[in-house]
Amino acid sequence: MNLKISALQFTREVKTGNISVEDFIGKTMEHIEKVDGNLHAFLSLNDNAVNQARDIDKKIKSGDKIGQCFGMPISIKDNICIKDTKTTCASKMLENYIAPYDATVITKLKQQDAIFVGKVNLDEFAMGLSTEFSAYGPSKNPWNTDYVPGGSSGGSAVSVSAFECVASLGSDTGGSVRNPASFCSTVGYKPTYGLISRYGLISYANSIEQIGPLTRTVEDAAFMLNLIAGLDSNDNTTINNNNADYLKDIDSGIEGKKIGIIKEMIGEGINPTVLSATKNAISKLEELGAICEEVSLDMVKYSVAAYYAITTTEAGSNLARYDNLRYGYDFSVEGYAFNAYIEKARKKLGPEVTRRMILGGFVPSSGYAGKYFLKALKVKSKLTRQIDEAFKKFDLLISPTVPILPFKIGEKINDPASLFLIDINTVTANLTGKPAISIPYAISNGLPIGIQLIANSMNDKLLLQAARALEKTVKLPEVPI
Ligand code: GLN
Repeated sequence: MNLKISALQFTREVKTGNISVEDFIGKTMEHIEKVDGNLHAFLSLNDNAVNQARDIDKKIKSGDKIGQCFGMPISIKDNICIKDTKTTCASKMLENYIAPYDATVITKLKQQDAIFVGKVNLDEFAMGLSTEFSAYGPSKNPWNTDYVPGGSSGGSAVSVSAFECVASLGSDTGGSVRNPASFCSTVGYKPTYGLISRYGLISYANSIEQIGPLTRTVEDAAFMLNLIAGLDSNDNTTINNNNADYLKDIDSGIEGKKIGIIKEMIGEGINPTVLSATKNAISKLEELGAICEEVSLDMVKYSVAAYYAITTTEAGSNLARYDNLRYGYDFSVEGYAFNAYIEKARKKLGPEVTRRMILGGFVPSSGYAGKYFLKALKVKSKLTRQIDEAFKKFDLLISPTVPILPFKIGEKINDPASLFLIDINTVTANLTGKPAISIPYAISNGLPIGIQLIANSMNDKLLLQAARALEKTVKLPEVPI
């Protein structure tokens, strides 16, 4: 059984009767058992997956109506709620939390007969970019297990890249889908803000975050988007996309398209190998008929500072509910004075989340809000104006997804500021609400490099077409697992 197939290939193989869902899911679960002890992508597994596969095979045999996923094995980041399933956010705080409802993306995928093989690892509450801040230990990069897989959706990227599922859902607040996709050589796509419902995604910084797919191919990302995008009455920030078909015309190419190379994302601090891969990608795009030219977005230099001021502020209020009275891990209130009780409960949050809570209390506080929070909002709107201006001239923008190569586990964990800076190329799309994608582009000394494309709001279709065109020029070695 070949587990190394794309999501669309999987649906075709099942449709034509070449593989049974039970076989594929059974082999997938065996493969997870075999490799995940080392990789640690999963926090929990679906014990019922093979039974669900058998039911889908029965449905297919009897000619019943069958959803577009045909029993496809999907992993889900553990900050997205699946009813009656543990949803820990990789935090001790939610160690025993069983979600009482399905996220909208889960409802939609269930309707399409997807099988959720398990919940995957992340930095605690999605704060980080290496999965080292997971309270349950880091995931490892399948390309070299001494290295981080990126994050925060590290478990998603590892599970796709190591063939433990065919696709995954992650969440991207400042790069958390694209960063691990880049580090693990998968596709990672953050749609236009509002295109996918956030209902049932446990909020970190809800004004800028989106759920997004991690897949093996750009076509698979478009396929997933077809299944999960659209208006949702449970999330009033969602946009009506008129049931757009993102797969249709995906091979249109990029001839004549104008692509801006973001100057501030290829400058100071960039690894030379990453820079040369980016230059190579640009010349490939030119060969395909695109017109590439440098463009400056000078607000990018303040984007990381603004991002952390805004996200810690939102996180400070979003995570206030974890007080062990409404949400928490359950110890008896008896015998505690109120403050002592709350203090004990909040100690269940790990060091990075605690750091963000302290910042999130300070940044918007009276006397400092003008200096930090309001200034950050100004940067956000100026950056948005600049990028909107750039999109008057360009159809797309390009940069490396991450300015550096994957780093070793433990290498940067004690230097949070250096971790923050690694987000420099990804946060702009979140702060401005634009869609962005990372595609696998090169392997340097056995470590992956991803290229990022950004499009204007609601131009997700064009973005996927361009990513597909670039993807077709790439031939990479297989992951050594
Ligand atoms: N590294 C960023 C952060 O720590 C991005 C995280 C994310 O996108 N969830 O906030």
